[in-house]
Amino acid sequence: MQGEKVISRDDIIGKLVVDSEASIIGRVKDFAITLEKGEVRAALLVEVGKGIKPITVELSSIKNIRDVVLLSKQVTVEKKSEEAIKQSYMICPKCGSKNPPYAKYCVNCGLKLE
Ligand SMILES: [Zn+2]
Repeated sequence: MQGEKVISRDDIIGKLVVDSEASIIGRVKDFAITLEKGEVRAALLVEVGKGIKPITVELSSIKNIRDVVLLSKQVTVEKKSEEAIKQSYMICPKCGSKNPPYAKYCVNCGLKLE
C-alpha cells in the first residue's frame, strides 16, 4: 500500500509517549495485550517512572508515531504512582533524610542503611 509505514517493535520501544496535552507520560517498554471484560486489545506498555507499575496505552489511542508516540487523548498517571515514589525512598533512621532506594549509606549522615 502506498504511504504505508511499517513500524517494528524495535522502532517503538524506548520512544517517549506524549499525550494530547503535550505531557510526557513515559517511555515505551514493550507491547502488551490487555484483557478486560473478555475483550482482548493490543496496547503499549509504558514505563512511567522507577518503581512505578507501567501503564498500558491502547493502540487505538495512538494518533501518530514519529520521534515520539503521540496520543489522541489525555492520560492521567494515577496519583498512586507519586505515593509509590515516596514510599520507594529509604528514610534514614538517624537523621530522617530521604535516600534513593538503592542507597547503601545515608547521603546526609553516612549511616549504613539496610
Ligand atoms: Zn542519615
